[in-house]
Amino acid sequence: MRYLSTRGGTAPMSFSQAVLTGLAPDGGLLVPERFPNVTHRLPAWRKLDYVALAQEIFRLYVDDIGTDDLDTIVADAFTTFDHPDIAPLVDLGDFKVLELFHGPTLSFKDVALQILGRIFEHLLAQSGDHLNIVGATSGDTGSAAIYGVRGRKNLSIFVLYPNGGTSALQELQMTAVPDANVHCLAVDGSFDDCQSMLKSTFADLDFKTRYRLGAVNSINWARVLAQMTYYTHVCLRSEQPAVFAVPTGNFGNIFAAIAVREMGVPIGRFVLATNENDILARFFQTGVYRLGRVQQTISPSMDIQVASNLERFLWLRFGRDPERVKAFMAEFARSGEASIGDGEPTGEAIEGVAVDMADTKATMRRIKERYDYVADPHTAVGIEAARLTRGNGTTPVCIATAHPAKFPEAVLDAIGPDATDAIRHPALDRLDPATARRTVLPADREAVMAYVRDHAA
Ligand SMILES: *Cc1c(COP(=O)(O)O)cnc(C)c1O
Repeated sequence: MRYLSTRGGTAPMSFSQAVLTGLAPDGGLLVPERFPNVTHRLPAWRKLDYVALAQEIFRLYVDDIGTDDLDTIVADAFTTFDHPDIAPLVDLGDFKVLELFHGPTLSFKDVALQILGRIFEHLLAQSGDHLNIVGATSGDTGSAAIYGVRGRKNLSIFVLYPNGGTSALQELQMTAVPDANVHCLAVDGSFDDCQSMLKSTFADLDFKTRYRLGAVNSINWARVLAQMTYYTHVCLRSEQPAVFAVPTGNFGNIFAAIAVREMGVPIGRFVLATNENDILARFFQTGVYRLGRVQQTISPSMDIQVASNLERFLWLRFGRDPERVKAFMAEFARSGEASIGDGEPTGEAIEGVAVDMADTKATMRRIKERYDYVADPHTAVGIEAARLTRGNGTTPVCIATAHPAKFPEAVLDAIGPDATDAIRHPALDRLDPATARRTVLPADREAVMAYVRDHAA
């Protein structure tokens, strides 16, 4: 399988190259040259457990890592999960909840980052190279990336985050990791400052090559690939084509589901759920992608306006025509607004729904009362969006992207003392503030680059 850029300006590359490259050199996202049709495999796949199914799907997209090694990487990644089903499906009657938060940092990002860290380690062991991963986070990505990389050979990780701009718990999940290859950089600035410093550091190609910088953000193809398993696993156990409600920020999680549908797995429709940062909900309602201002909400991992992974969807939607993708992205970069064209509906059976904070809290309360289930605020956004779009009677599968214990203040605020037990988790209780390590840096690219230079392995 070879990987192409959505913008058409990059020579096709192998899976390993695509994983190490992250963003394509022409600024596009890497996509597989085809999505293999798996219709004929579905009867046999029904018998597989989660790990075996993940191995099958990886084999379809990876042909430059030996099958035994690949199988080992995938199986080993899920040994860090604390549930035997990896991604259990909880049936609440009116809807189902697919819990993706049983990994080490309690968000769905572990599903992909536990695998990605191991793939990096494998590729580097073969080449003898070292990789310095540099990332910016406003919350969940940082800890999931750190847990994917901690203690791995030939890899270091540097995570920039706004000093005082994450919750204390989110910061502790990053800083209380003792491994020497983990560097937490608290920047005296905003998340946007962190992101723009990250971008300009990567744009310095000389520095990037010299210090072998790598990225783990959600544009990395391996992350999408890893997320395809849980959608397939649910579909194989559904009698009717599944309906998925996905709380969405960067469009990475829902794109994995769209990719699964491209492979011929029966999926009925998608509910794309956002909070007040509703650029994607509006896009799927109107076909117009228009930038708004970022608002802070109780589902902070979706406080995003520009959804980098949307470009992969546009590429599919535009019949894989890189010229149309380029024109759309150029128009959006120029004017902050781009349209799918000719008043066409975006189609594809994707319904965009925005749910505000008041309704999110009311939903958390309601599902605790009615179903005795505690959902985190991100998950609640998806559950409410699914209720609002209830269609042809198929029970929707709502994606639970985080454990409620990750967002204790919001959960307690919405539900009250009844949620006290739900906001405790042994993985969080184990975090010891006395072991926290971090370095405070000014919001200055030179300071960040100097730190990376001095600590790069
Ligand atoms: C990252 C994240 C999301 C958004 O996922 P995308 O792939 O960016 O759409 C939703 N919920 C939680 C808890 C997250 O950490």
